[in-house]
Amino acid sequence: MSVYIHIPFCNSICTYCDFCKIYYNKKYVMRYLDSLKKEIEERYNDEEVSTIYIGGGTPTCLDDEELKELLKITKLFNVKDKIEFTIEGNIESITENKLKIIKEYGVNRISIGVQSFNDDVIKLLGRKHNKDEVFSKIELVKKYFDNINIDLIYAVNDNMDIVKKDIDNFLKLDIPHISTYSLIIEDNTILKIKGYKNINEDLDYEMYSYIEKTLEENNYIHYEISNYAKKGYESRHNLVYWNNDFYYGFGLSSTSFINNKRRINTKNLTKYLDDNYLDKEVYEDKKVRMENEVMLGLRKLSGIDLNNFRYKYNYDLENVFNIDELIRDGYLIIEDNYLRINKKYIYISNEILLRIFD
Ligand code: SF4
Repeated sequence: MSVYIHIPFCNSICTYCDFCKIYYNKKYVMRYLDSLKKEIEERYNDEEVSTIYIGGGTPTCLDDEELKELLKITKLFNVKDKIEFTIEGNIESITENKLKIIKEYGVNRISIGVQSFNDDVIKLLGRKHNKDEVFSKIELVKKYFDNINIDLIYAVNDNMDIVKKDIDNFLKLDIPHISTYSLIIEDNTILKIKGYKNINEDLDYEMYSYIEKTLEENNYIHYEISNYAKKGYESRHNLVYWNNDFYYGFGLSSTSFINNKRRINTKNLTKYLDDNYLDKEVYEDKKVRMENEVMLGLRKLSGIDLNNFRYKYNYDLENVFNIDELIRDGYLIIEDNYLRINKKYIYISNEILLRIFD
């Protein structure tokens, strides 16, 4: 079993962000942690936990005492020996003391929102750090952790040179994992309100291809549409989502998937603080679960284990979904009992999925 914990507080709001977040406000943090603890005590059934992921928001914007309180709550879980325990942070709020605290409580992986090394892009995205701080802070993080991810956003503007320099700077950091996302301008974000537009698709593809080629040349394995890792550093927690396995989500707006029920928590802080955690819960029938399995599983470059699919659903995937033509046209490949998207078409995976579900 895996566990996601959502900490919604942020010190500042990024211009592209449509996640569930609120400004850090000391008067709410301890109350929030109190409700979080009660939610876990109420819902968690003592299953053995193999991955924990504390995301947000910005978990590292909590002060030292709040961070300790949060990490104490994770002691409620019955954890396996070789747990993967990740916390998200951002450059400006990570301090040496916080690194010591999270390490002491068993965190062994840290995921950092860097987004870019270009000071103008960082500013445009509403982040508060600069390139020099990225280098000094990651050096500090490396004193305590070796399993480090950074998030990087590309296609913020049409300057290919920025993408090349960003990847070059990432390689200089010498860390084992990177998640790369093309900027999406979501509704109700500052960028959208300001009328910011996405770059053209051909250039976006050129940037994506450059990133993939350069990272692979430097021994990073492209294992999921947006994710690259050195061997052995693939995110075990995220693989749970892509494998459509069960997991708990605790905290504001979090999602759980347990016993075929998708449960979504409220996004309303007042309700959450009143211990009214649930927004809605939906039972997913076999058809929906099989569709999710395909949609999520094909995000992985390794694809979907067809034997496992048969074991889980009692159907052959090939008999349920419309894949013959896509195989014939070379978009999908079956090899060693795995179904996967041909790597050269992974960039258009959404179009392929539309054809599968047609
Ligand atoms: S730090 Fe993350 S959650 Fe907070 S505003 Fe920025 S993108 Fe959103």
